[in-house]
Amino acid sequence: MIVAGNWKMFDGPDPRALRSALGDLPHVVAPPYTRLRECVEAGLTTYAQNVHWENEGAFTGEISPPMLRSLGVTGAIVGHSERRLYFGETDLAVARRAHAALQAGLGVIACVGENWEQRESGDTETVLRVQVESVGDLCGAHDDLVIAYEPVWAIGTGKTATPELAQEAHAFIKSLLDLPVLYGGSVKPENAAELLAQPDVDGVLVGGASLDIDSFVAICRAGS
Ligand code: PEP
Repeated sequence: MIVAGNWKMFDGPDPRALRSALGDLPHVVAPPYTRLRECVEAGLTTYAQNVHWENEGAFTGEISPPMLRSLGVTGAIVGHSERRLYFGETDLAVARRAHAALQAGLGVIACVGENWEQRESGDTETVLRVQVESVGDLCGAHDDLVIAYEPVWAIGTGKTATPELAQEAHAFIKSLLDLPVLYGGSVKPENAAELLAQPDVDGVLVGGASLDIDSFVAICRAGS
């Protein structure tokens, strides 16, 4: 069971205080780049929020797998819906990022998910198929790869997918690529246990609630 916290472009909690509150609970945190070192030094399992596919080069604003590894970072999120929506991240770019990170020995959480319009028009499975297969075509069912199902309409909105809806989407994703699948979208201490009880929900990716130590620890506890 994986509980991962995406701090997005927030400073987030004090890494040392979070580390001591977590005790032995399994966790992943993905802070902004400026806090990666601090999180690693505090002993947190630390992922980046993105990663480029080249080792170095003229790619302003990007960071490479060896650069992350040299900091002690052990993985990266790729394809978050905010990257796709605001920064034009394509399926191919997401797959290339995932592939390079895996090749470099990093763990990868690859995010997929439909928006509300796509769900309403019955296109959820088509959208998920395209996104998942694009990662699968390049990376296969790699041991260090997990998928995060994050319906875009549930991210940061307070709207959570019902456990049944999450289960249905997770089972579909696993039928395409046999990998652990995390759920993401307004996960909180109040709804985490119910989501995690679904047979094909293998963990959660938490945004807003991961910024608060008590909330994140409570969700990690629900997942342990
Ligand atoms: C996320 O950022 O991946 C996310 C799921 O955010 P939130 O939990 O705030 O909806």
